[in-house]
Amino acid sequence: AAKAAGRGLLRFFDPAMQVAVAERVQLESDMRSGIEAGQFELYYQPKVQQGRIIGAEALVRWNHPERGLVSPLQFVPLAEESGLILPLGEWVMKSACEQLARWSTHPVLGHLSVSVNVSALQFRQPEFAQQVLATLATTGAPTRLLKFELTESMLIGDIEATITKMGQLRGYGVRFSLDDFGTGYSSLSYLKRLPLDEIKIDQSFVRHVLTDPNEAAIARTIIALGASLDLEVIAEGVETEEQRVFLERNGCDMWQGYLLSKPVSLAAFEALVHARTPAPGAEP
Ligand code: C2E
Ligand code: MG
Ligand code: MG
Ligand code: MG
Repeated sequence: AAKAAGRGLLRFFDPAMQVAVAERVQLESDMRSGIEAGQFELYYQPKVQQGRIIGAEALVRWNHPERGLVSPLQFVPLAEESGLILPLGEWVMKSACEQLARWSTHPVLGHLSVSVNVSALQFRQPEFAQQVLATLATTGAPTRLLKFELTESMLIGDIEATITKMGQLRGYGVRFSLDDFGTGYSSLSYLKRLPLDEIKIDQSFVRHVLTDPNEAAIARTIIALGASLDLEVIAEGVETEEQRVFLERNGCDMWQGYLLSKPVSLAAFEALVHARTPAPGAEP
């Protein structure tokens, strides 16, 4: 990027910036070896509908040998810029599908769906759909339980190609959600044309829903929009019972957020599902 910006800029490189650049280079090389060394892990955040855990969003974590658990906010953007999101995204996809396959025969966990975040670069690869189908086939994951979360940045560029690719995968049963809805480049005419199953209300519209009438109005509008386009609507970032009640009263009964659970390790997620599932024959 510095090269593209022109040589003149180099004069303004100060020592602090050089540290930042060195740090990025280091992080990138750590990431490359970390993928091979198995340092990445999927955490799961439950998705709830009418009190029942219906699935999870898979969120990647990096167990860095020196830095500890690193948040995706710190490495996903970098991974997107460097292209490392491609091998990382492939790993995420494979891991999520393997998990779906393992759950699929389990009496308590068999109904769970998994939502996977897909970055624009990954989705735009010509071989993306083929790769997904191959992963589904080799893992044996039930196709209908896999959902992809796309962001509005996918709408920039070749919209026709996006629609075709989504349609192809949907033909095989994979479902699609539009993540962080309302925060990006949203055109309602595109929204109508995209073969979506779900939109996800961004947490920035949930946070102040009880105190800010404008945010409440936006949340209600998104819910109504989803209903009129025959899309499922899920809210993210639900932290309080009052927020949950507001959403439910306004027609959004699907949510995820700290109110039930942060994203947690696989073992903790499975324990949570078991704890909330009444034993067979137990009083409701
Ligand atoms: P996202 O897909 O919008 O995920 C939601 C983020 O909100 C997650 O952050 C989650 O931990 C956080 N969150 C969930 N509930 C609450 C809540 O009640 N309150 C608050 N304050 N936050 C909540 P996380 O795990 O740090 O992930 C950040 C972003 O990194 C994700 O945003 C997603 O864009 C990206 N990301 C994560 N995993 C992957 C991945 O496997 N692939 C790609 N391409 N991106 C990923
Ligand atoms: Mg997401
Ligand atoms: Mg989101
Ligand atoms: Mg978000």
